[in-house]
Amino acid sequence: MIIKPKVRGFVCVTAHPAGCAAHVQAWIAHVQSQGPIRQGPKKVLVIGSSTGYGLASRITSAFGSGAATLGVFFERPSEDGRPATPGWYNSIAFTQAARAAGLYAENVNGDAFSDAIKAQTIEFIKRDLGQVDLVIYSLASPKRVHPRTGIAHRSVLKPIGTPYTNKTVDADTGVVSDVTIEPASAEEIADTVAVMGGEDWEMWVEALAQAGTLAPGATTVAYSYIGPAHTWPVYKNGTIGRAKIDLERAARTLHTRLAPTGGRAFIAVNKALVTQASSAIPVVPLYIAILYRIMKAKGLHEGCIEQMQRLFATQLYNGNQLQLDREGRARVDDWEMRPDVQAEIARLWPLVTTENLADLTDIAGYRKEFLKLFGFGLSGIDYDADVEPHVLMP
Ligand code: NAD
Repeated sequence: MIIKPKVRGFVCVTAHPAGCAAHVQAWIAHVQSQGPIRQGPKKVLVIGSSTGYGLASRITSAFGSGAATLGVFFERPSEDGRPATPGWYNSIAFTQAARAAGLYAENVNGDAFSDAIKAQTIEFIKRDLGQVDLVIYSLASPKRVHPRTGIAHRSVLKPIGTPYTNKTVDADTGVVSDVTIEPASAEEIADTVAVMGGEDWEMWVEALAQAGTLAPGATTVAYSYIGPAHTWPVYKNGTIGRAKIDLERAARTLHTRLAPTGGRAFIAVNKALVTQASSAIPVVPLYIAILYRIMKAKGLHEGCIEQMQRLFATQLYNGNQLQLDREGRARVDDWEMRPDVQAEIARLWPLVTTENLADLTDIAGYRKEFLKLFGFGLSGIDYDADVEPHVLMP
């Protein structure tokens, strides 16, 4: 089958297995090029391990510190004549590369919010690893069926209190227009907190601890975003921001639970990047397109893998200490938030139009990165060649 990108709004409904594998290889090569991360994790559970920041954390653990990794994700497997979602191919490529390097790699594909997937994951740990010393929580999901109530909560990306109007770009067509987003209802706010807040992270750590599968001194980390004032109404001060406040609450609770054995729980605030999750947020893709242009010009640009390698190598491990902000968060959004970077964004933001989008922003880089998420546009891949879409998890 010849697989080409089919973009529908902010998703691409096809994915290329060889391209996804090349993308994973490039991330592995980056981590290897940075050298070993000393005193790193040895047995790692990554919840949300198939794409974005979770995949980058898994690759950094395995290829930076030689860790055994167990990945949990929710991906649609391939079928005869039908490509999988990219995280399926990424996980296959990662697993093959890790095992070829002599590293343990296992996968659980299913709903991480459910009791059944937690139980299955814990069985893997008991059978193969005994205990884990690092738990990465990197889920980004539009929906959570609550395991106790059975209620299906759906997250929304909306402002709170008042409508919000700002510029946005349709990354596919390049049209810049004003978008007005109506404020969320109280129920939508609560639903978003239920999906993207900290309760499920707490449930995971509790289940792991109860089963005796959490090593003494274990670390757990979840990811957040803050960003600049342009995006606050729809991000930091919006529904997703409320969920992130709840994630920070969970970090404090978990830290109190883990600290007596020398463990730690914290939030890392990461940079805005093109991922399947971020491309769905209004306004944010335009911000990212401007941000990429400025950070690339200043030699500060990083992708998910550079971010996670830096987090592990300069804060979490390697004989380093976490450098926490006043709220107790590790910050790898520090370069994004540099005053000179943000001043340049504030200058460009009002000037951007459909006509000058290509000159004032790195929309080309945004599109390239977006297609790469699905395995397209990787060098060395012949996209006109026949490729087998149906690939089984090893
Ligand atoms: P992503 O969409 O690339 O990855 C999400 C992962 O979660 C995938 O592995 C997916 O399979 C998994 N997943 C989703 N629903 C699941 C379910 N029900 N059960 C099991 N697995 C499930 O997202 P991302 O952008 O890497 O986001 C990860 C975290 O990083 C989020 O907390 C996000 O808020 C945060 N973050 C993202 C950015 C950004 O710009 N992308 C910036 C800072 C922080």
